[in-house]
Amino acid sequence: MIYDTIIIGAGVVGCAAARFLSAYLADVLVLEREEDVCAGTSKANSAIIHSGYDAPNGSLKARYNVLGNAMTEKLSRELDFPFERRGSLTVCTDPSRVSVLEELRMRGEKNGVPGLRILDRDEALRLEPNLADGVVAALFAPTAGIVCPFKMTIAFAENACENGAEFRLNTRVTGLYREDGLWRVQTDRGEYTSKTVVNAAGVYADVLNNLVSERKLRITPRRGDYILLDRAVGGYVRHTVFPLPTKLGKGVLVTPTVHGNTIVGPTAVDIEDRESTATTADGINTVLERSSLSIKNLPVRSVITSFAGLRAHEDGGDFVIGEPDDAPGFFNCAGIESPGLSAAPAIGEEVARRIAEKLNLKADPDFKPERRDILDPSKLSTEERNILIKKNPAYGAIVCRCEGVTEGEILEAIRRPLGARSLDAVKRRVRAGMGRCQGGFCSPKVMELISRECGIPLDEVTKCGGASRITVGRTKEG
Ligand SMILES: Cc1cc2nc3c(=O)[nH]c(=O)nc-3n(C[C@H](O)[C@H](O)[C@H](O)COP(=O)(O)OP(=O)(O)OC[C@H]3O[C@@H](n4cnc5c(N)ncnc54)[C@H](O)[C@@H]3O)c2cc1C
Repeated sequence: MIYDTIIIGAGVVGCAAARFLSAYLADVLVLEREEDVCAGTSKANSAIIHSGYDAPNGSLKARYNVLGNAMTEKLSRELDFPFERRGSLTVCTDPSRVSVLEELRMRGEKNGVPGLRILDRDEALRLEPNLADGVVAALFAPTAGIVCPFKMTIAFAENACENGAEFRLNTRVTGLYREDGLWRVQTDRGEYTSKTVVNAAGVYADVLNNLVSERKLRITPRRGDYILLDRAVGGYVRHTVFPLPTKLGKGVLVTPTVHGNTIVGPTAVDIEDRESTATTADGINTVLERSSLSIKNLPVRSVITSFAGLRAHEDGGDFVIGEPDDAPGFFNCAGIESPGLSAAPAIGEEVARRIAEKLNLKADPDFKPERRDILDPSKLSTEERNILIKKNPAYGAIVCRCEGVTEGEILEAIRRPLGARSLDAVKRRVRAGMGRCQGGFCSPKVMELISRECGIPLDEVTKCGGASRITVGRTKEG
């Protein structure tokens, strides 16, 4: 079979591209080396839909950030993922640097960001009462928002899948070459052929580009450590609060999440290992120290977990999007560091449009732009919930006590298209294991459900695919 497009990488960018391509009459295949979609950088970031004031004027980052921000609200309704336009405050703690806020405001206006305003301390405090005592002024960006990055990525993937895109998980691309005008994509599970390729491989996108083009790219993973606070202290900040940005990024921010937690981070440390997502004591200390410059008395005793993500920093400092001139039909989406989550819808739409133009693809008259998320009984009235539980008692059985997740939701997460096959995959879809005990209570029950539904032995259920078995060393009899 010859595909119209093979997309390499099922992060937010690859899944967005798949979703927009599935609106055309096209054979689309997505190859992902991990056991689930959203298993790379798209799962470990600040979850902010940036307004777009920070990226340099004229850069692709600025362009796609502002476009993506404007698309997200409609997409969140169509595809049913949580998004809240909370606004952001970029705070200045040094009276001699207030002019930097003005520079950012002007840069933002040139980028097309609406509504930017500089606030004095009192105005800023009215919006955000827990600002640190040293804050003297702030840039308010009303269009910034927060999103659930897992649900956004999974929504793109499921919608693409429902509209006919094929996904092969656990499939790593190992080689790539052009022959007779077609692309041959070699994987650890066989070879595939396509007319075009989308390179959305995150921190590995340079490796793939360099297989096919003399326009070499170089990506350095830039690690960011975070801490996550319990929902019990939800509402400690109402907006995303940034410090003034630096050369390495947007600095240590404090932000609410759409699920009611508070997230604090990230650091920015260049590393060599593209797999190294372990947090470090130094990183966590930096996060604690720097966040206190923006927000006072952060309730850090309520930390429930820490994690790290890797930015795909390309030497040129901007996104690399489109075909290199010596590799026709090979569409890069490389160097997609922050604001890549915000920009993903616009990048996905643009790449789909360019491929459609190249291959002369027609719109699919049966394309369904809408998709519904997993039913969440906590959003129903008591009466509706009682009717649901009567019909299906699994919605009356709480499995994850911290987040109040029922067996019914977990079963749906497993049974849907691109269903969950591991503890983390369930967690990303319905939040079982995301709460204060971090899966201490619910993991055995979730494992049982995966094992029963997927017909795999309990001791083969993993945390996140591969060798991440949970019951390592246990005998079948034991
Ligand atoms: C610390 C941090 C904070 C951030 N905060 C924000 C934010 O608040 N807002 C924002 O807009 N952006 C933010 N970003 C950036 C954003 O998270 C990324 O730009 C975005 O997630 C990148 O998506 P992606 O699909 O390109 O990459 P990924 O999500 O990494 O997806 C790439 C996929 O390709 C797969 N892959 C790689 N090689 C192969 C291969 N050979 N074969 C098959 N599959 C392969 C990987 O397994 C992976 O799943 C942040 C990033 C970091 C690290």
